[in-house]
Amino acid sequence: MLSSYPRFWKPGKEKPFNPIELAFKTREIVCRKVNEVECRKYTHFYVAGVYRGIVTACGVGCCLRCFYCWVPLSRDFPEKYGQYYTPKQVVENIVKLARKYGVWKARISCCEPTICPDHLIQVLELIEDVKEIKLFILETNGILFGVDRSLVKKVLNFDKVYVRLSLKAGNSQGFTWRTGAIGEFYELPFKAIEYFVQEGVTLKRFHVAAMTDPRIMSNEERMELIKKVWEIDPLLAMNIEEEIVDPYDTTLIRLKEAGVKIF
Ligand code: SF4
Repeated sequence: MLSSYPRFWKPGKEKPFNPIELAFKTREIVCRKVNEVECRKYTHFYVAGVYRGIVTACGVGCCLRCFYCWVPLSRDFPEKYGQYYTPKQVVENIVKLARKYGVWKARISCCEPTICPDHLIQVLELIEDVKEIKLFILETNGILFGVDRSLVKKVLNFDKVYVRLSLKAGNSQGFTWRTGAIGEFYELPFKAIEYFVQEGVTLKRFHVAAMTDPRIMSNEERMELIKKVWEIDPLLAMNIEEEIVDPYDTTLIRLKEAGVKIF
């Protein structure tokens, strides 16, 4: 199985993959049920400066292979990195850091949190009950929310959850070029946005981010992306957080593997 597991994405040199299949393959590596409790691999826990200070549980595994991605190499080699943590252990680590540094926000980062959905839901359940954390920012690429509306409903049941959904492309060609995934799946994150809107989210609990860095996205594609979000909800479109590529070491490795020069 691992011989065909996608690592670094090399546009034009490799076959695009099905991101849902990759989510399932990755789930087999990074999630493990122990006595009915879903554990997930994490590499470490830390406090990041973004969001004016947030406790970050650095998880393993994603269903896309964005060539500009900054996360550790655990994304590409999930079998080699991290240890399994129960939801309880994850929240204990989060609370410890929150107390130590006086920070009241938390997130799971470095990975796609929805890859282990049962684990994620249990973490969110526990977070609801700890007084140290007031806000949980759920960062996602939206792929799995786009195939499972019930997961959208589940996460919105938690009062402390705020969702940041990050788009990678405005059309199918851009999606494959940047993420390695088959073009037709580019609609899934937009479908996820639709589901969140239909479930009644507002900007108080949800916003859309998008990797629209002009070095890797034409203005034409950027406008396609904004138009698609506008058609779902103009307010969301007017509040898109536009991202740019930063030269992290891991990003530079992935850009080099992809043959993309922007620095
Ligand atoms: S940028 Fe996000 S969605 Fe893309 S590969 Fe990295 S972690 Fe996954």
